[in-house]
Amino acid sequence: MAWFKRESAELDTSGEKKVRTEGLWVKCENCRQIIWKKDLEDNMNVCPKCDKHFRIDARARLALLMDENEYEILDANISSTDPLKFVDLKPYSSRLKQAQKDTGLKDAVINANGKLMGRPVVASVMEYAFIGGSMGSVVGEMITRAIERAAETRTPLIIVSASGGARMMEGVISLMQLAKISSALAKLDAAKVPYISLLTDPTTGGVTASFAMLGDLNIAEPGALIGFAGPRVIEQTIRQKLPAGFQRSEFLLQHGMLDSVVPRKQLKPYIARALDFMAA
Ligand SMILES: [Zn+2]
Repeated sequence: MAWFKRESAELDTSGEKKVRTEGLWVKCENCRQIIWKKDLEDNMNVCPKCDKHFRIDARARLALLMDENEYEILDANISSTDPLKFVDLKPYSSRLKQAQKDTGLKDAVINANGKLMGRPVVASVMEYAFIGGSMGSVVGEMITRAIERAAETRTPLIIVSASGGARMMEGVISLMQLAKISSALAKLDAAKVPYISLLTDPTTGGVTASFAMLGDLNIAEPGALIGFAGPRVIEQTIRQKLPAGFQRSEFLLQHGMLDSVVPRKQLKPYIARALDFMAA
């Protein structure tokens, strides 16, 4: 989905669009219809023919949620020290450098303070394009800081998840983030500051196993893949065939794992109403 990242970048700099003669059309991977890219963009990157919600990057997500696309970015200069000096097919340090170059971020999350329909919010938005949105020490630290800031300033927290789970290149240090974030959330809960968790495609592994499912309200976009282990691993473990639609938002809603499935176009007013309800 390389074209998609480019589209999101265009969304952010809408004043500086260049005329392109190629790539004006895309084929929807779901309904196979040919769509004019402009129509897709105007429709918040949701297929106008079949309602497939395409993945969007963290900046495009913030543009959707924050009033006038205005927000203050915080904690942006923390980067991983590669504590294990990990090497698989490539050194982790070069994967980090590449991801930083590709996304313009230091790690897989953006922390921002802003307003959603006039209501102040603290947001942490994960970036799937950065090593699969995996959660290492930096993501853990940044999300913890956002939670602590929400608690200190008594501002509602929104975390938007898009993640393959823990970052294996940081081993146990990555897993430790689950506990760190969860205990910060317990303090936020004790302080009675609302936390809305928005799960987007995909939200899996350790992220699902911790903060993504700990919201006062856990909501997801339609059709998002949400789960802990992959379906093949589960089938091999329980030796049963899994039902259709397993690990998609709608299935999880039916089985009580989510509070709501909210179409992208309705997200902002939905969250605003939820914040008012929780503040009352
Ligand atoms: Zn479609």
